[in-house]
Amino acid sequence: MQLKCSHCSKMFALNKDAALAGMYAIENEGLLRYDFPCDHCQRANRVSSERLEETYPNWKEEYDDMLKRAAKFEKKQAALTKQAAESKGKPKKEKKKRNRNR
Ligand SMILES: [Zn+2]
Repeated sequence: MQLKCSHCSKMFALNKDAALAGMYAIENEGLLRYDFPCDHCQRANRVSSERLEETYPNWKEEYDDMLKRAAKFEKKQAALTKQAAESKGKPKKEKKKRNRNR
């Protein structure tokens, strides 16, 4: 979704995930609009809930998909972190021993 910044007048692309999160906040908090920061000057740009809903009419489904994607990613990330921690543990011990011997 392309937005024109009302402060610096530059065009910037609104990230879909950010737009969906904004819609979620609008729905949950009963807002009429949501502020998105400009890519160029970081100042807030108000986007009305109507405009967001027009752009993402199936935002609820897409938001659910996004959460599922995030959960999958977190799982993968946790496995990688665990793997990294395990492989890190061994060489450290060996290094310590070597230092003591010297
Ligand atoms: Zn701007």
